[in-house]
Amino acid sequence: MQSLSGQSFIGFARSQSAGPVQRCVNPATATELPTDFFQATPADLEQACSLALAATPVLAGLSGGQKAEFLHGIAIRIEAATPDLVSRATQETGLPEARCQGEIGRTIGQLRLFADLVAAGDWIDARIETADPDRKPLPKPDHRSMLRPLGPIAVFCASNFPFAYSVAGGDTASAFAAGCPVIVMAHHAHSGTAEIMGGLVVDAVRASGLPEGTFSMLMGSGRVVGQQLAKHPVIRGVGFTGSRAGGRALMDTAAARPVPIPVYAEMSSVNPVVLLDGAIASRGDTIAAGLAASCTLGVGQFCTQPGLIILERTAASEAFVTKLGQLFAAAAEGTMLTAGIHQAYVDGLAVRAARAGVSLVARGTSGGQPNRATPTLFATSAKAFIADGSLQEEIFGPCSLVVWCENAAERRQVVAALHGSLTATVHATDAELGTNADLIGQLEAMAGRVVVNGFPTGVEVSHAIVHGGPYPSLSDGRTTSVGSNAIYRFTRLVCYQNFPDAALPAELRAANPLGISRLVNGVRQSGSI
Ligand code: NAP
Repeated sequence: MQSLSGQSFIGFARSQSAGPVQRCVNPATATELPTDFFQATPADLEQACSLALAATPVLAGLSGGQKAEFLHGIAIRIEAATPDLVSRATQETGLPEARCQGEIGRTIGQLRLFADLVAAGDWIDARIETADPDRKPLPKPDHRSMLRPLGPIAVFCASNFPFAYSVAGGDTASAFAAGCPVIVMAHHAHSGTAEIMGGLVVDAVRASGLPEGTFSMLMGSGRVVGQQLAKHPVIRGVGFTGSRAGGRALMDTAAARPVPIPVYAEMSSVNPVVLLDGAIASRGDTIAAGLAASCTLGVGQFCTQPGLIILERTAASEAFVTKLGQLFAAAAEGTMLTAGIHQAYVDGLAVRAARAGVSLVARGTSGGQPNRATPTLFATSAKAFIADGSLQEEIFGPCSLVVWCENAAERRQVVAALHGSLTATVHATDAELGTNADLIGQLEAMAGRVVVNGFPTGVEVSHAIVHGGPYPSLSDGRTTSVGSNAIYRFTRLVCYQNFPDAALPAELRAANPLGISRLVNGVRQSGSI
């Protein structure tokens, strides 16, 4: 295991900060890990931003092939450093080794997905409208447009994804792929993992011959250093995964800047699951087993954890909820990521239990070890749910709320009242799907991914995945934070008017030297014009 300095990466240099100091804590044992991590200073932040500004035009001028080489370079280094990364992350997060291994694999896969995307080049959305000087009453100009990088991006690491949504995770990979420099705000809970990963990214920047401002990483408190970063005039966009309070604070900071910038925050999601009678009657036990597993997977610390279960009251659905309660009661407790997240879970359960009309269905047993969360299932009526907006707030952990509807009309009212979520799931027979098109329409209106006869946890990283949804699941529900479409968050369209061919970007030249797919005078083609 390499030694850790606890200092920020400011381009190729390390900060010489003397503090404030933070230490990481092993949540499984509630013991402090020995390394001191030093908060980045205002001078560090200034230098990181100044380097990022200098790197901006260089990165914007890279070809897809050069960006792909850089992204592959990071992936190769992560692969080689996997034992060190796993060893540190298991201590800092309490996540099991297999989960860390799997998440590293996903992180490498994401980097390679973006590398292949930018190497192919079609993603850039090149459009060409050729000039028509003879058009009446006015001549038509030559217009050519494509996506260009946004500029330096601040990325906030997620507590619950120390790899896939942290230093070299999806936000960073998509920003690099778009051609943007990145300044990462390390998460205080896994700063050692961040330091190892930051070193790998810096190595890859050097090896690819890119400017040092391509990447910096700041240690310390997000509320202090992260706020300063989001306010800095050089920063052009923010990627964030975490609490609604944190994401909302960054949205408000960004909107209040003299020059507002976009914040792509993935915040909180309750991921409703609607169960129709036919599905319960035909395979209730299988659904109950899958649902309990999905609710408690990873100690419920996934943004796609199903936090609401909506069904009509019948004899079969009452038996289903009894079964689900038994599975919750028998499910193992698990170590949460941090003492703060554990406390928020305990507090969230207490608040929910005290709400009018909410009853406890089942609760797992606790062995009394530190930071353990016990699976918990509550129930309420449709009327109480509709009347009390707080019942839609995310309780981050292995907890879910059954909403009893007395009939289909009440179920429609409940679904109509749902806030935005990353996912919405329905279990139904084929016949029920045919007669409930309105329900699918309702779910599509409030979620980014609608799942039929499955479970929402387990997010595939692909070209078609959508990991986004209306607020509050995302700050901007038009986007996704997972999958290759995430690149579009860190771009903006530029149109070039009446440019001589040689002065155009290669993507827009007449000969189409990159052989990419383009929309030419309204017709999609890959040839020259
Ligand atoms: P968090 O408190 O939102 O923190 C995430 C990152 O944002 C940290 O680096 C944090 O910095 C920073 N941050 C927080 N508030 C900020 C602010 N006002 N201004 C600037 N930066 C800020 O999330 P967390 O620590 O990961 O977990 C806390 C709670 O978030 C959980 O209990 C859960 O409810 C929720 N959460 C939800 C998801 C999800 O996917 N839905 C994922 C993770 C967490 P500092 O803390 O160092 O100041």
